[in-house]
Order: sequence, then structure tokens, then C-alpha cells
Amino acid sequence: MAKRKLNRRQQWRIKKIQEEKTQRAHRRDSQVDQQLANNALGDEQTGLIIAHYGQQIDVQACDANGQPETQTPVHRCYVRANLDALVTGDRVVWRAAEDECGIIEARLPRNSLLQRPDNFGQLKPVAANIDRIVIVVAVEPEPHANLIDRYLVAAETLDIQPTLLLNKADLIGSHNRATLDALIAPYRALGYEVLLTTAQSSRDDNSDLLSWLAHHTSVFVGQSGVGKSSLISSILGDASIKVGELSQNTRKGTHTTTTARLFHLPSGGQLVDSPGIREFGLWHISEEELLQGFVEFRPHLGHCKFRDCRHIDEPGCAIKTALQEGKISPRRMASFERIRATLNEKETF
Ligand code: GDP
Ligand code: ZN
Repeated sequence: MAKRKLNRRQQWRIKKIQEEKTQRAHRRDSQVDQQLANNALGDEQTGLIIAHYGQQIDVQACDANGQPETQTPVHRCYVRANLDALVTGDRVVWRAAEDECGIIEARLPRNSLLQRPDNFGQLKPVAANIDRIVIVVAVEPEPHANLIDRYLVAAETLDIQPTLLLNKADLIGSHNRATLDALIAPYRALGYEVLLTTAQSSRDDNSDLLSWLAHHTSVFVGQSGVGKSSLISSILGDASIKVGELSQNTRKGTHTTTTARLFHLPSGGQLVDSPGIREFGLWHISEEELLQGFVEFRPHLGHCKFRDCRHIDEPGCAIKTALQEGKISPRRMASFERIRATLNEKETF
């Protein structure tokens, strides 16, 4: 997507908002210093960000292995002024407070970061340390390979392992089985895991999915209507209520909408969810990243005769040779060309 140029008024507004934010943060910092002077803050410990409410952040303590202590209460915290944007999924160093908000002192290094553009076209972080992307498609609405490829490229670009989840398996019958097999089989051949589910099944029936999610932090993405909300509430059970519980002292905090929220799965592992994440897309990706996002292209990249080959009709093109030799499927090649043609347009999926 082309970066939108900000006009002077917008630039002035952004500057003003940032100044106000800095002032507020400094006021908070002096409040924290006061708490420290009064010995009202606990020792430094590591924690996991569960949710984000404007200026305040919910944190849960982690054990010595860095795993969240899922049974402990969530603490509402302020953030030290010198820290850059924190998001759900971030690991932090924080201190609890006896009867007021705690304080986040530092952010630990991130393994991954999901971002999306704000209203000004600037990328903003949404969630950190995600290591699984579940691409949900359904028997209905009819899944399209090009959309699946787009999500796969997004996951590959972030270096986060994707899996395909075909939901509404209860609607598979003799009339659509062959078409679905033809759509799904090539992804299995490329090495992607494909799981079948129905959102109505009990948690036991979804044990494949749950064991795939255990020990990881996952997001569910996919077009509207495929059953993401149904699926998420089915696998979370009552876990969603538990994580929402705040420690008694910080309950009074404001409850504005959160950008993304983290849930503990009954099988172990975490799920981060928000409408923004469910519609996660291919933001600001380059042609080079797009090529890398097609896993079967990778062995052939850098082997074209011309260094600036665009893999259209150039002589000695390694990608086209791989296509002729059947190492790249015509369908995936067409998908690549279609996505490339839309790279500079605003995201539409
Ligand atoms: P979302 O937009 O991806 O969050 O999808 P929803 O969870 O809102 O589901 C869309 C519709 O599909 C709803 O009417 C659900 O009841 C229905 N649905 C969800 N999962 C299943 C399933 O496994 N089987 C069937 N038959 N319908 C489902
Ligand atoms: Zn080429």
C-alpha cells in the first residue's frame, strides 16, 4: 500500500497528541516514583501482557520458565514513559502494587510482531510473540485458493508457522468432497498441516486442533462467515471468563475496547484474538517477500539468468523452468501473479 502523505494539519494533530501523551506519561512516572519511595511496589518480575486498554495494560505473572501463571490474577499496570508501544503477547518486566496499578518497567525481546496500518497508513503493532497462524476456511462460504495463498504468504513473511483449518466439516458430502480435496491436497503436498473441524463439536472432537495449539501462542485468521467466532468460543470453553478476572485492587480501571486480548487454552497454549487480527492481511509486502512467501519458489530464487528477472517471459528464468518441470503448479504461479498485480493497492481481503 502506498504511504499516504500527511497534510500539515494532520501532522500538527499527531505532534500534539504525542506531546500530550508524553506529558501524561511523565505525570505517571512521578506517581510511580512516589509509590517506589513509599515501598508500595513489589519486586521486579517477568509477566505477559494479556490486554491493552489505552493507557493501561493487563499483565499476568510468569514463572521461572517464562510461562504465564494462568491461575494467578491479572494486574492492571501503567507503563514507564520511556518504553515504546507495548502490545498483547509482549513479555515484560513489571512490579505489582499493593492497592493500585502496578508498573511495567521494560519490554523483553520479541520473537514476532503482527502489525497493521492505522488510519494514516502507518504500521502499528497489534500482537507480539505469536508463533502459530491458523488460517480458517470453511466448506461454506466456498474457499478460494488465492485467498489461502495470501494468508500463507502473510504467515511465511512473518516467519510464523501457518496451518489450514477446514471448518464446517459437517457440511462435507458427495456433492462437494472432490472439489474440496482438489483444493486442499496441494497444500498438504507443500508440507502444510490441514485440520478438519466443526465448531459445534465438543472439545474432545477438536483434540487434534487443541494439541496443535498447545505450547504455542496462536491467532485465527480468515474471511467473515467461516466460523472463527464459533470455533474460538467452542475451544475456549469457560477459559475466556477466567482470563478476564482482574486482581481485586485494580478492578476499578477503565474498560475501553482492547486492540487484542490473550486467552489461555484449556489444553495449554494461548490464543490472541481481536477483530483486527481476524482480518489480518498482507500489509506493505515487497515483491521479494512475496516470492519468498511461496515456499516452493525458494529453491529456485536467485537462479534466473538475469538478476532483475521478474519471472514473466525472460530467457533462462528458473521459476518458469520449475513451472515447466512441474515443480511449481500452474495454479500457484497464477496466484503469485495475481497477488503481485495487487501489491501496491490497498489491502482488500
Ligand atoms: P466468523 O465470521 O468467521 O466469526 O464466523 P461465525 O463464527 O460467526 O460463523 C458464521 C456462521 O457459520 C454462523 O451461522 C455459524 O453458526 C456457522 N457455523 C460456524 N461453524 C460451523 C460449523 O462447524 N458447521 C456449520 N454447519 N455451521 C457453522
Ligand atoms: Zn525468473
